[in-house]
Amino acid sequence: MMMEHSPTEFQARPLLDGFGRRISYLRLSVTDRCDFRCRYCMAEQMQFLPKREILTLEELAALSDAFIARGIRKIRLTGGEPLVRKGILTLVENLGRRIGDGLDELTVTTNGSRLRERASALAGAGVRRINVSVDSLQPERFGFITRGGDLATVLDGIAAAREAGIAIKINMVALKGLNEDEIESMMHWCASEGHDLTLIETMPLGEVEDDRTDRYLPLDGVRRTLESRYRLTPLDVRTGGPARYFRVEELGSRIGLITPLTNNFCDGCNRVRVTATGQIYMCLGHEDRIDLRKALREGGPGDLDALLDQAMRLKPRAHDFRIDRRGAAPAVSRHMSVTGG
Ligand code: SAM
Repeated sequence: MMMEHSPTEFQARPLLDGFGRRISYLRLSVTDRCDFRCRYCMAEQMQFLPKREILTLEELAALSDAFIARGIRKIRLTGGEPLVRKGILTLVENLGRRIGDGLDELTVTTNGSRLRERASALAGAGVRRINVSVDSLQPERFGFITRGGDLATVLDGIAAAREAGIAIKINMVALKGLNEDEIESMMHWCASEGHDLTLIETMPLGEVEDDRTDRYLPLDGVRRTLESRYRLTPLDVRTGGPARYFRVEELGSRIGLITPLTNNFCDGCNRVRVTATGQIYMCLGHEDRIDLRKALREGGPGDLDALLDQAMRLKPRAHDFRIDRRGAAPAVSRHMSVTGG
C-alpha cells in the first residue's frame, strides 16, 4: 500500500499524543536478528522470529511513507542488527530519497560488524550520522560482553564510515564491574577520534542470564565522578533522542548521558518504535502495542492512519523502569533487540 501525498499534507495531521507531545521520530527495527549476543541485551540462545513474520523491505518502505505523511521527520533504522538484513541498502536508498522530501534525517544504529562493506552506500544514500555500539575497547572484554564480537572488525568498520564522511556517535552501555573502569579511556579515545560518546544505563528489558541489578551503574554517580576530574558544561543541543549532552572542556569533546532510571526523560518524548513485524510500541517501557502489519498487508488506505491515531491515544506519559531486588522480573518481557534500540 504505497501512499500518495503532497508536501502540505505533512503538516496537515501531525501525530500528537494525549499529552500534547508531537511525535516526529520513528525508530524502525528492520530485523530482530543480530550477529552479536550482548549479555545485557539478549539471551545466549535467542529464538528469532520466522522470516514470514518480518515485514518485507517494500512493506518497511510503505510503512515509513505512511509515517512521513503524518509528520515523522527523522527515522532511525535499528534492530537486531540492521546491517545484517539482506537487501537493507535498498531500503536505505528508498528512505534516503525522502530526505528533504518529508524527512530531515535518516540514521542507523549498528554494532559496526558490517560497516566496512556498507559505509559508502550508507553515505551515498544520505546517511550523515550513525550510532555504533562499543562497550569496550579491550578485545577480550569486547568479545566477552558481545559473546563473540570482534573488536578489530568493528573499529575497522568505524574507520570506513568516517572515511565515507559519516559522523559517528559511540554508544556505550555502562555496566558495573564490566566496563565502568573504561569510561574515561573511552572518553579519551572518542575525543581523539572525533566521535561523540553516549553512556547508557542498562534497562530492564527481557530476560537475560546476567543479573541486571548487579550490572546496573547509575549514571548520576558516574557524572559526579567525572565532574571531580573534568569540567562538564551542560549543552543545549538535542539530537532528537533522550541524551543530555555535556562538553568535556579538557578534551574538547562531547558526552551524552541516557539515564532512563536515574532521571526520567519522558516529558520531551517525541518518538515511537516499530518492530520488524510491524508492531508499534509507543513506549520502550510499556507492553502496549498495536499491530500495523495486518493493516499494511490487508487493510484499506485509511486503516493504517486510523491505527496511528489510536497509537497516539495510547502513548503513556512515562515509562516506569525500576531496577531493584524486589522486582526481579524485567519491566517489560521483550528484549531491546525485539523493540529496536
Ligand atoms: N545492533 C545495533 C547495535 O548494536 O547498536 C542496534 C540495536 S541495539 C538493541 C541498540 C542499542 O541498544 C545498543 O546501543 C545497545 O547497547 C542498547 N541496548 C540493548 N539492550 C539494552 C538494555 N537492556 N539496556 C540499555 N541499552 C541496551
